[in-house]
Amino acid sequence: MRDAHICEHCNLHLPLGSRHCPSCRQPLVLGSRGRIAIWRLGNIRDGVLGPLAKGLREAFRREVVIQPTFVDERPSLRPDWPGRSASVFLAQVLRRHRPGTWANLGVTEDNIVPSSAYNFLFGLAYMGSPAAIVSLHEMGTDKPSGEVLSRRALNIAIHELGHTRGLDHHAYEDRIDCVMVGDEAMDSRETIDSGTARFCAACRRAMQ
Ligand SMILES: [Zn+2]
Ligand SMILES: [Zn+2]
Ligand SMILES: [Zn+2]
Repeated sequence: MRDAHICEHCNLHLPLGSRHCPSCRQPLVLGSRGRIAIWRLGNIRDGVLGPLAKGLREAFRREVVIQPTFVDERPSLRPDWPGRSASVFLAQVLRRHRPGTWANLGVTEDNIVPSSAYNFLFGLAYMGSPAAIVSLHEMGTDKPSGEVLSRRALNIAIHELGHTRGLDHHAYEDRIDCVMVGDEAMDSRETIDSGTARFCAACRRAMQ
């Protein structure tokens, strides 16, 4: 399935090389040199992206730009799976990377899974690659307040962007106070809520 930009005003599917929508003339892609670019797969509820952008700006001391275009929803659809293909969504975000952009973060309300055998995933990134994704689906299933949901999304986003900068996990049993503590089998809403959104000194050094 071909990937496309979707104009948020016209819902037109447009080639990835397009900078402006030919119909409404609004920009599809904003400059993101040295910045974190946020890409949306589908609509995101009000009150999440603002705090997310603010938190990422503070965590990484980088400007954040929310791209006005939507990511094409078709390529990652897997009708027989419990969610969308996380690796396809991640590849779509990576495909939108432009040289000089510090990192790209894809955000979706939809469930994402690495394969049909999984029920959910909070986020995904490959180490050292400038793209990461976050799903609000599982972290929103207990109907949290907007503030709690934003904090969870920010925590996962910081963790995944840590992976894009080459950081690996700390094990839970190491009891290190760091956002990079993680274990696919143990991560839950509870571990997100009880964990820190900060990097430990070793991770901060490794990112520089
Ligand atoms: Zn348009
Ligand atoms: Zn991780
Ligand atoms: Zn750490």
